Amino acid sequence: MRNITNNPLNFVYKMDNTLLNDFINGDMMSTEATLLARCNAHCELCNSDAPLSPYVVSPHTNVTVDHAVMLCETCRTQVEDPETMDMNHWRCLNDSMWSQEPAVQVLAWRQLKHLSADNGWAQDLLDMMYMEEETQKWAEIGMDDDAEKPRDVNGVELKKGDDVTIIKDLPIKGSSQVIKQGTVVRGISVSDDPKLVSGKANGQSMYIIAEFCRKK
Ligand SMILES: [Zn+2]
Repeated sequence: MRNITNNPLNFVYKMDNTLLNDFINGDMMSTEATLLARCNAHCELCNSDAPLSPYVVSPHTNVTVDHAVMLCETCRTQVEDPETMDMNHWRCLNDSMWSQEPAVQVLAWRQLKHLSADNGWAQDLLDMMYMEEETQKWAEIGMDDDAEKPRDVNGVELKKGDDVTIIKDLPIKGSSQVIKQGTVVRGISVSDDPKLVSGKANGQSMYIIAEFCRKK
């Protein structure tokens, strides 16, 4: 396999933050509207009708319908800072753990995992909980502290030498070219930035956002 780090990058698709934000904002309106419709404007963990905002379930970093959960301020604060967890509030997981949404299941599972250290009821709920294998993997990945690794759309870690499929059309910065959805990039390399991997597509070496790849 050719090692692309030994080749000069003849074309670099480097996403700066502005471009990344454009990417996210472009999809934001419809994503948030879809999420609000999904949860019927109620918090997806505690069912409160307080104001909601999307929370991206790690290790994912972009707000997408599949990776975000609509949370009220109370849930968000306590999810972000488990030290502030109010045990009684989290009885709500009794209901939300049965959500059909993998992202909600993952978040409910992780909260129960935190709570189960001190609460028998949380362990009982964990024992009852059912998740698809892929969802279970996602839930556990987030419990590790090594989220700082490039991960594909399914949260699977990407390593040097992996082959990946591009999951959506990606414009190449500074040109009118597009890397088509379904393009296979063989033998990727990882970069210092966990959001990016590099590889050769359309005959050019470039950086690609890890989350727009699927490991083959
Ligand atoms: Zn809530």
